[in-house]
Amino acid sequence: MGDFFERIVDVEVTDADAGPLAERIVDWMVEDGLITREVSGDGVYSPSTDTGYLPGPNWRRSVADSPDPDPTWLPGPVAVMVGRDYYVGGQGVDEADAATCPRCTARTVIIDYPEEFEPDDEAWQPFAVGIAAWKETGEGNAVCPSCAAQVPVTEWDFGSGFTLGTLAFDFWDWPPLSAGFLAEFAGRLGHRTAEQTGKF
Ligand SMILES: [Zn+2]
Repeated sequence: MGDFFERIVDVEVTDADAGPLAERIVDWMVEDGLITREVSGDGVYSPSTDTGYLPGPNWRRSVADSPDPDPTWLPGPVAVMVGRDYYVGGQGVDEADAATCPRCTARTVIIDYPEEFEPDDEAWQPFAVGIAAWKETGEGNAVCPSCAAQVPVTEWDFGSGFTLGTLAFDFWDWPPLSAGFLAEFAGRLGHRTAEQTGKF
């Protein structure tokens, strides 16, 4: 197996609620047999944790269809991340492709695909500084280069591949999660979620 992840990010939970909510989700998944309480670091490359919960006997109930007919095959651990952080889908980048201002809708291009594959460091700098401040203190802004508004980094639209959040779950090397499972998961979080896939 390669090291793929499917990620669910809670983009609304508060700092105070993230820890208790993570525990409730883990309790539910353990009760349903989707994961166990046994922890492993095998194949876990998540941003802020290097361990996850091993799959439980009913893990197949959460996936759309299980392509592997071998009944003994198991996916990797499910990592749970609590704390303000940014999450990147895809592979190996640390920046958003672009940032869209929620006030004036101007789009600042950071990585000018397909001409460029490297970020424009000067364009990204204000966002990097604002995101670092938000991680540290819970507050951070970036000034829009178009309308000059001071906009909190949590309000910018960085596209689906770059998401800020305070609670996230990485399913390592699981077959694609089913729409029904994702809907139930979001319902139990009780918040808006973002999904990402990527490869370590
Ligand atoms: Zn603007």
